Amino acid sequence: ATPTSIMVGSGRGAESGILFKGGEYLEGTQAIQAVLLDKTGTITEGKPRVTDVVTLSGSEEDFSLVASAEKRSEHPLAESVVAYATEKGIEVQNPTSFEAVSGHGVTSGIDGKEVLVGTRKLMKERNIDSSASEEQLAAFEKEGKTAVLAAIDGELRFIIAIADTVKPTSTQAIKELQDEGIEVYMMTGDNQLTAKAVAKEVGIPEENVFAEVLPENKADQVKKLQNEGKKVAMVGDGINDAPALATADIGMAIGTGTDVAIEAADVTLVGGDLTNISKAIKLSKKTMRNIK
Ligand code: ADP
Ligand code: MG
Repeated sequence: ATPTSIMVGSGRGAESGILFKGGEYLEGTQAIQAVLLDKTGTITEGKPRVTDVVTLSGSEEDFSLVASAEKRSEHPLAESVVAYATEKGIEVQNPTSFEAVSGHGVTSGIDGKEVLVGTRKLMKERNIDSSASEEQLAAFEKEGKTAVLAAIDGELRFIIAIADTVKPTSTQAIKELQDEGIEVYMMTGDNQLTAKAVAKEVGIPEENVFAEVLPENKADQVKKLQNEGKKVAMVGDGINDAPALATADIGMAIGTGTDVAIEAADVTLVGGDLTNISKAIKLSKKTMRNIK
């Protein structure tokens, strides 16, 4: 494209809240054939809140230990657990020890007790059997909620159901892309059932859902699509998404997301409205057409 058409196109993008880091990305966007969307914070608002706490055994008051275990985690799910406890007037204290288990949860020491909060896999790894809770977990997950387990000193104690609302424009945005013949995929560290429920809500086919993807494997999913010969755009907001954003042909960061994601990406969607993805593609096509 000519410098003038690039300038005009970039300006139009900026007016709509689409920031291209350079002319080559405005040019490259028209070639996108597949769009891989992160779930939390990209398709959804990324503002999870606790909707249910189920006490499996022991005293309800021990939820204080669970909230405290999450206090030092920066994960949005952890923040929702702490916020819930605070609202309920439950004491949240500083844990004496804390370790984040990437893609799985946290383990903390409080008052000489070991508190684990996270996925079934985390529990299994620590030899805690959660099979008796499976039905209840699946019920929450089929509603699109993330169900987190909490154990104290090796005993399963609570199920925490956490909901995150789909952004009002996500369904429309996905339909617009599909109508343009672009394949839409979802990628998340969250479990299969939750991911599929959210995908269904927004119109992403089940077979296009990559769930339980560990942070270190997100970039590989982008490569997998590229190896099928597709030009891939990855859209994400989190630190976890940065390698995938950098790997994609076009990385698009949600402007309300982390700085790390914005730095790794080629395009920033300022307000986080996903309808700007198809707008960006149309703008790119128009810009490229103007040169001929
Ligand atoms: P996402 O793609 O949603 O950012 P992550 O890889 O960060 O996913 O986490 C995957 C899953 O691990 C979450 O859905 C949750 O079940 C669990 N998890 C991670 N961190 C925490 C935490 N601090 N507290 C509870 N659960 C957690
Ligand atoms: Mg995210």
